Parts: sequence; C-alpha cells; structure tokens
Amino acid sequence: MAETKDPYRTATGAPFVGIQVGAVSFVDEGTEAVLDLFREQAGVNAVLLACHTFDRGTGGRQIPGHPLPDHGVQEYDRNFQGGSFATIHPQYYGKTVVGDFRAPDHGDLDIVEEVMGPAHRRGMWVYTWINENPHGPIPRLVPNFPKTLEIDVHGRRAHTPCFNNPDYKYWWLSIIEDYTKSYAFDGTAWCSERQGPLGSMIGGQGAASGITCFCEHCRALAHERGTNVERAKRGFLEMAGFLAAARRDERPIDGYFVTFWRILLEYPEVLAWEKLWTDSQHGIYAEIYGTAKAIRRDVQVGWHVMHHNSFSPFYRAEQDYQKLAPFSDFIKVVAYHNCAGPRYAGYHRTLARTIFHDARPEATLELMYGILGIDEAPLDRLPQAGWSADYVRRETARAVANVGDRVAILPGIDIDIPTGPEQAKCIPEGTAAAVRAAFDGGARGVILSRKYSEMQLANLFAVKDALAHVRR
Ligand SMILES: [Zn+2]
Repeated sequence: MAETKDPYRTATGAPFVGIQVGAVSFVDEGTEAVLDLFREQAGVNAVLLACHTFDRGTGGRQIPGHPLPDHGVQEYDRNFQGGSFATIHPQYYGKTVVGDFRAPDHGDLDIVEEVMGPAHRRGMWVYTWINENPHGPIPRLVPNFPKTLEIDVHGRRAHTPCFNNPDYKYWWLSIIEDYTKSYAFDGTAWCSERQGPLGSMIGGQGAASGITCFCEHCRALAHERGTNVERAKRGFLEMAGFLAAARRDERPIDGYFVTFWRILLEYPEVLAWEKLWTDSQHGIYAEIYGTAKAIRRDVQVGWHVMHHNSFSPFYRAEQDYQKLAPFSDFIKVVAYHNCAGPRYAGYHRTLARTIFHDARPEATLELMYGILGIDEAPLDRLPQAGWSADYVRRETARAVANVGDRVAILPGIDIDIPTGPEQAKCIPEGTAAAVRAAFDGGARGVILSRKYSEMQLANLFAVKDALAHVRR
C-alpha cells in the first residue's frame, strides 16, 4: 500500500471504503476477479478479510433459508466450520492450552497470503477481520477450549469463554502476535459480540450463556474491587426470578420497573459485576492493541461495536467511546440501517415483557427513541420499514463527538444483512443514502457489512455512486 500520512485516506484523497469478506468468496469467484469487482464497481479500497471466525454469518456463504445473492456459487455451505483461515504458527502459542483452531473448510489455503499481494498491488488496504463471537461450536471443535469457559452463578461451566481466563486471554494475544508478525497487513478489526450478564438477562443481541462469570479469576478481581461475591450471586438470582415472573405476566405489587430498580438498590453488586464483566472485555481490547503496536507501530487496530449499541441504553452506557479511545485507532460503529427495524422491534418487545412491562410497548417507544437519539417508524411498521439513513448519520455524529480526531469512526453499512421474509430489504437507494449519511455525520470511512457473499451486486455497486457525492 502506498505511504500516506492519513491511514484512512488514499494517496488520491479517497476515504477508507472497506468491505467484509470471507475466504469462501475468493475460493468461489477467484481472488483477482473479486478484488477487481470491489475496486472498479464498488469503489472499495480496503479488504477486511474474515480470517478468523467460527460464524457463518461472517465467514461463510449465505445463511441457509435466505436467498442466495446474484453472484458466487449458488449453493449453501451447510458444512461450514470456520476457525483460522490463516496459517497457525505454533511458536507464538506458548502460554495457552487452546489447541488446533485452523479452519478445515478450504484445505491448506492461507487466505491472508492469497489476498494480500494482489490487493496491495491494486493499492488496496488489507485488514484482518477477527470475530471473537463465541456463540458457535468452538468448545466442541477446538481442543482444550472448554477449559477457558466462564463459570455461571450455579457453579456450572457456561458455553462462552472468560476474558479473565489466562488460557483464553493468551490465546488471543498469541493470535494477534502470530498474525501481526507473519503478515504485512495494514490493520486488524476485532469483534466481540457479547454483553455482560445483566444486559443478557434483560434481553437483546449477543452471545449469552447465563449469569457469568464467577470463575476464580473473576472472583479475585471482584475481591480487589471490594465486591461481595455471594451478594452478587444472590442479587442475580433474585433478578432472574423477577424477570422470569415478568415474562409470565406476574406483576409485582409495586410494578415491574420499581421492582427492577429495587433489586439493584438492594444488590448494587449486580451492577458492580456487570461493570467487572465489561471492564474485562475492554481489558482484552487494550492488551490486543498494545501487543499489535509493540510489534508494528503502523498497524491500525480497532473494534467492531455491535448493533445492540444502537438499541440498548444500558449497553450504550457500558460502551463509552471516550474510554475506548486510548486503545483504538478506529471504531467500526455498527449502523446497519435496514435490519435495525426488525432487530430493534424485537428488542423493544423484550423490554416490554420485562422492565417496561408496566406500559404498552407503543407508549414506551417514543421514550426509547428519545433516550437513544433517533427518530424512526412506529412499532407496527418498524420490521417492514427498517431504520433510515438519518439513523446512520446520528450514530456516526455521536461517535465523532465523543472521540474527535483521535479515533477514526468507520460506520458499518448494512448491505443485505438477512431479515425475515416479510421484513425490510436493502435497495440501492437505501445503501447510497446510508453511505452519504455516514460521511455527513463525520465518518472517516465506511465498512460494508456483513460480508460480500450475502450482498446483491446492485446494492454493493450503489456505494460507488454514493461516493461520487461525498464531500472530501
Ligand atoms: Zn471468569
């Protein structure tokens, strides 16, 4: 890649336009052909390679049950497994018991080797796009992975790993060291679509594995913070009982919200545990950042902040961009306008069954829109309407206002992320409007999401038209 002073602007002055793409697309359609299509037809100048994922949603072909797009092999990859699509160099894995996690899907193909040279020759940046997302089959597939799993409130192993488990933490630091030393790519985007136990209990997006984590490492951290472990457990169990009763429409005498708040007053340890969980997640961000930078100063490191950040004020409070800034070169603010409609409607109805159960969901919608700083369709039309480009602009502007010039805000743009059969679908005008809105909000670039193998070409090509209207 040509040397430029701004790592998010090309030598010709174009802003960063990245696309998420899995190995399967290069295998199916040919590396040179895919890169040419990205660059020439869509105005893309950065490839975010899904080189580590166990999730078909980012690493495979279209999800079975959703229509295949108008390119690529017209067949579902029902045997997708995932893992690392780059070579694993064992010398970097000295402090973790986690075993072989190489993806078997495409034989010996090393997708970073395969794509990096041809992309760099075309003047395109290459980023490793890494999905921590542990809601899949990893404990079953990867040797010793079960030893890294969280412990729940009942003392059981959960199915999600613990950020404070040394084998898990060093597994990630090893992967970062391995990739950063083995390949001359330009950046790393790391994705953790998880939230703390309280957020998971209230509802919403992300991998939830129960009320976690009470492992020895998390208990030691709680002890350092002066948080009583037994009271935290009691508080969570009381909260779980209340939320289960709320879902059965069993109204407490003083109402749902008052009872929710009363449990938090009685057991502030619940909030302390939620904070400990989130701090642990961000702690691994900081260590990944430092590790990559210690190896190569110019490598760009940043985070995918999941869609739930647009929907949940509780999660948003935990994802403080100003606190992320010291260990972020960029933040991919997920601002998927189209699928936001059905996704938010689902979350809102969950809230309406739990902490906002006292009021009708239609009545709390305005309140939530006000709190979230958005202005979109009423609840009954939401799954069909999606959210507008204005939402993309608002979420981008909010992030930029938080971090200023210190961190590049690169909103994730929704191109054909699957929705239900009767729900909102992407159209070229919508994609173009979302891209323009991101730059109107102050974005330094955009990341086309979630993956090329689910995008219709007309929607992808609309990006290039939109870029022509972006003020430089
Ligand atoms: Zn733990």
